[in-house]
Amino acid sequence: MTAAPLVDSFGRRHRDLRISLTDRCSLRCTYCMPAEGMPWLPSGTLLTLAETTRIAAVAVQHGIEEIRLTGGEPLLRPDVVQVVEALAGLPGSPEVSMTTNGLRLGGLAQGLKDAGLARLNVSLDTLSRERYQQLTRRDRLGQVLAGLVAADAAGFEGTKINTVLLRGVNEDEAPALLRFALERGYELRFIEQMPLDAGHTWTMEGMVRADKVQALLSEHFDLVPVPGRGSAPAERWSVDGTQSAVGIIASVTRPFCGACDRIRLTADGQLRSCLFAQEETDLRTLLRSGGTDEQISAALGLSVAQKAAGHAVGQAGFEQPGRGMSAIGG
Ligand code: SAM
Ligand code: SF4
Repeated sequence: MTAAPLVDSFGRRHRDLRISLTDRCSLRCTYCMPAEGMPWLPSGTLLTLAETTRIAAVAVQHGIEEIRLTGGEPLLRPDVVQVVEALAGLPGSPEVSMTTNGLRLGGLAQGLKDAGLARLNVSLDTLSRERYQQLTRRDRLGQVLAGLVAADAAGFEGTKINTVLLRGVNEDEAPALLRFALERGYELRFIEQMPLDAGHTWTMEGMVRADKVQALLSEHFDLVPVPGRGSAPAERWSVDGTQSAVGIIASVTRPFCGACDRIRLTADGQLRSCLFAQEETDLRTLLRSGGTDEQISAALGLSVAQKAAGHAVGQAGFEQPGRGMSAIGG
């Protein structure tokens, strides 16, 4: 069955579904989670493999082409390999990728690759063990680095590294992180810190802005803009005249809402048309009360139709959503 494309009232067609597999995490990154006291979703509210697959199947019929698995930490899900296999095997063969902190890749990379996972984004904010511990509140840098090696050995190509720079903490590492990525064939992407931390500590003044990142890198590298961004969130620059590129996702200072093609499903089955949306559509209750595929389809269409033009981060009246990044799925 092919259903109508998910086009919103601003003409944006949605092709990308981000699915959070869990709100739990093995790290406590300061810009994402509090050190303690995070309220977890009750386990009975998490969508099962069958429920997630059913919603994804309907979304694919509506023209979703890429599914990105995230969290929390998606690799904490005991059935993560089966989830990948089920989604990659859906009619329409969506591309299934994952954003992970990489800690469990050592044991899981090969299984994920064999199950059909197309690509990985691994989050890494520093190459210093002490800073990693400070930033994530866990002493696990070695595990991430081993995870990256395992991903390479399993045959993953085009792996991306996601980095959030924090003022006075790791911004001086931007060039070293880029060198690390270039040497290993990864594409580094700097993500501007967004007001989505569960502790509500974000400030516009405290974040490292995209133009600052660009300036920091330009002191060491020759950056030339890569044209043809499309709906991709990252602006990209080729580095030192090579084919290698670096990206900056300037969600706050240069928002790309006008080209957004993403919708999100939280681990407890709530559909969100935007990271910053205040409203959610409860697909879990619909499913568990015997809802049909046609009803799921209608709910998807309605959520997209009601999507806002963009977020208002940094503007008067902006309200941080009730859930933080780890509970929405970044
Ligand atoms: N745990 C996995 C990981 O860290 O890759 C997946 C979930 S995490 C929420 C997804 C991405 O969001 C990570 O790259 C992380 O650095 C980023 N992130 C988390 N909180 C953020 C924030 N407040 N602003 C910008 N990016 C953030
Ligand atoms: Fe966990 Fe990812 Fe949030 Fe860090 S950014 S606390 S790894 S969910």
